[in-house]
Amino acid sequence: MTGDAERHRAKMEKRKAAQDAEVAEKTIEKGLLIVNTGPGKGKTTAALGLMLRMLGRGRRVACVQFIKGGWDTGEKHAFESFGDRVAWHTLGEGFTWETQDRARDVAACEHAWAKAVELMADPSLGLLVLDELNIALRYDYLDLESVVAALRARRPDLHVVVTGRNAKPPLIEAADLVTEMGSVKHHFSAGVKAQEGIEF
Ligand code: ATP
Ligand code: MG
Repeated sequence: MTGDAERHRAKMEKRKAAQDAEVAEKTIEKGLLIVNTGPGKGKTTAALGLMLRMLGRGRRVACVQFIKGGWDTGEKHAFESFGDRVAWHTLGEGFTWETQDRARDVAACEHAWAKAVELMADPSLGLLVLDELNIALRYDYLDLESVVAALRARRPDLHVVVTGRNAKPPLIEAADLVTEMGSVKHHFSAGVKAQEGIEF
């Protein structure tokens, strides 16, 4: 071996030992409360990716869509092909500026939240996605304290993903993993409309 190659090997050996030691320290197993928030694109997409990953591990998954109405989305069609391994509930009435009816929005969110509570009690689920729950909380369509308390009291091995901009601080506090999607550039500002297969 040349001097350079040997130095590289020794350095990598040391790095591997450090990495192995760090991994060995992490021994806790638990259902995670995950929050995908921030102004950039990818919050829902990332949650859908986790549904796929969990399905690949043979577990059942569920998604409750708050706010969003009965849009025809690619993910809905794709997850249909998994049959009863996926529970999919689109229970919103559309965006608040579309419904223009607060009482109706509140009722839709309460209905969606009741479904979420029911699903959290289902022992066969590995992952539950609560899409746009942050929006329902931001507009006070649901009681923040009781939602956070119910999420904290979930089955210890259930993973839950909450998506939507402007996550409330008490939810962030309760979460194990919080990711803020930042917007560096979005095609929408250049006049490009929502693209099939990318946005919906
Ligand atoms: P996606 O569903 O594509 O992962 P998201 O969940 O991060 O997006 P939402 O807040 O749910 O974002 O908004 C949904 C729609 O808004 C998507 O069509 C997305 O492309 C669009 N969008 C997301 N971020 C931006 C942005 N920074 N500017 C303009 N439009 C955006
Ligand atoms: Mg979204």
